[in-house]
Amino acid sequence: MSVTGLCQVCETREAEYACHQCGAAVCPVHFEQDRGVCVHCGDPNGTEDVFAETDGDRDVPGFR
Ligand SMILES: [Zn+2]
Ligand SMILES: [Zn+2]
Repeated sequence: MSVTGLCQVCETREAEYACHQCGAAVCPVHFEQDRGVCVHCGDPNGTEDVFAETDGDRDVPGFR
């Protein structure tokens, strides 16, 4: 199943996956491929961090 449009988490990158739980279209950064779900479903307690643009930095301000 292909996904078109922008990631529903960051709305910046092109979505390439669909969350198996909520159906949201998300980019690779916001998709947990191990579980097949988006970051919201995969980490419900860490939703405040999912908007960080960088993948790998541990302490990102998130806003400029
Ligand atoms: Zn994204
Ligand atoms: Zn989801």
